[in-house]
Amino acid sequence: MVSRVIPVDVFDLVIFGGTGDLARRKIIPGLYRRFLANQMPEDSRIIGAARAALTEDAFREQVRAAITEFVPAERQEAAAIDAFLARIAYVAIDATGTNGWATLKAMMRENVVRAFYFSVAPSLFGDIAQRLSDHGIADAWSRIVVEKPFGRDLASAKALNGVLARHFTEAQIYRIDHYLGKETVQNLMAVRFANILFEPLWKAEYVDHVQITVAETVGVNGRGAYYDKSGAMRDMVQNHMMQLLCLIAMEPPYHFDPDAVRDEKLKVIRALKPVSAENIVRGQYAAGEKEGGYLEHSENPASKTESYIALKVNVSNWRWQGVPFYLRTGKRLRARASEIAITFKQPPHAIFDDAKGWHENVLVIRLQPNEGMNLMVMIKEPGPGGMRLMQVPLDMSFAAVLGDQADETPDAYERLIMDVIRGNQTLFMRGDEVEAAWAWTDPIIEGWEARSDRPQVYDPGSSGPEDALMLMHRDGRRWREIKE
Ligand code: NAD
Repeated sequence: MVSRVIPVDVFDLVIFGGTGDLARRKIIPGLYRRFLANQMPEDSRIIGAARAALTEDAFREQVRAAITEFVPAERQEAAAIDAFLARIAYVAIDATGTNGWATLKAMMRENVVRAFYFSVAPSLFGDIAQRLSDHGIADAWSRIVVEKPFGRDLASAKALNGVLARHFTEAQIYRIDHYLGKETVQNLMAVRFANILFEPLWKAEYVDHVQITVAETVGVNGRGAYYDKSGAMRDMVQNHMMQLLCLIAMEPPYHFDPDAVRDEKLKVIRALKPVSAENIVRGQYAAGEKEGGYLEHSENPASKTESYIALKVNVSNWRWQGVPFYLRTGKRLRARASEIAITFKQPPHAIFDDAKGWHENVLVIRLQPNEGMNLMVMIKEPGPGGMRLMQVPLDMSFAAVLGDQADETPDAYERLIMDVIRGNQTLFMRGDEVEAAWAWTDPIIEGWEARSDRPQVYDPGSSGPEDALMLMHRDGRRWREIKE
């Protein structure tokens, strides 16, 4: 099967920070793959803009190196890479000064989509927005793309929104949360709203609880200084996990339309109750045999930053009354695995005597690895001797079902960049959504800062701190095993 290619308009994409890590690892390889998929119309250009005084050829060589390093070998075709490089331009620019802006202005063309990717530190967003506007480089149809972190609390997120709003309307601003670009995350919406099967059961009457897990095996490594100012709550929960929770908990939007979807997500965030201290467990990984612990990577040997967090969250609305959402994410855990598991309640009346054999129905949506869905159902254990029950999975791996088509699916960044060019904001966070998420997060963080809580130490390669197990045990529930 070959996936359908939906044409896009001719574009000029300017990547501020074009020589940076994100551009090299994600943006440029993603654009190259879209180029291979014929989604970069003739005449479209990618303009790197960064501080380094590079010639255009030198920048092209950096782009070639990024493709060689980050695109799978079977997709590296020499002729295609050369053709792609012919679309690349470069301008040395100073985001906080005057250098380069007139050159960039002279490079802009009329009647093409203009998109500006701010792949730089957020402290530069205001300077770049201001200069794009002062030099008349951005017009009313231009789009800007901004990266995470979008603030570190409500006040800084509001300030960032304010800075951007001085020069751009909300319809021009694309705030990336790359989780929303993941195929399986979008599949959450397809599963919920394109099937009749699940939605009738998707409420407090039938759902016992929801678990959302994003587990990583890597530690903070060289990113200790950055991570120490962030921690798992800011780095993962406030954005990515909150988005997953919204897609699970939201009401059906009236249409798959950017504002309809984002309105529904916003209502979920606003319905989140404050989380009390006993429903939060924070952890920090200890040293392992081969790798130092969190504190060895931090610049602060007494750091209280969490590399793990588990929370019990309640969505306070009609649909989810009394249904806990257990969220956990952490580094240096047993396996790299992200999944959402919806555990259903018992049938209202048990007609079989085999109470021990009975288990809840669980719908597991695996985001990575081995993306797919798994529905745990009860059947009769084969053989004579009465009606004994057993639980079996209805297991669907997207790779197995979709074959080649699964290989061709664009990664999160590719999809999101193409959505920017198409002008589709559905998978981008709106300013009010980001602010509402911080408004919920801030008091949680302030709470543990005021109490001077230290995170609980956990072993690398484990499933997290002991207290996190208790968070569910005391409710008579258990976390699912973290496994690939
Ligand atoms: P980086 O430090 O590797 O690159 C920064 C880029 O900004 C360089 O190209 C540099 O030339 C440019 N730059 C810096 N100061 C400049 C100035 N005054 N004028 C013009 N250009 C200037 O950073 P990165 O890791 O690529 O991250 C970029 C953004 O993406 C950050 O906001 C970061 O939080 C975000 N982000 C990065 C990753 C990642 O994996 N690297 C993931 C998610 C989000």
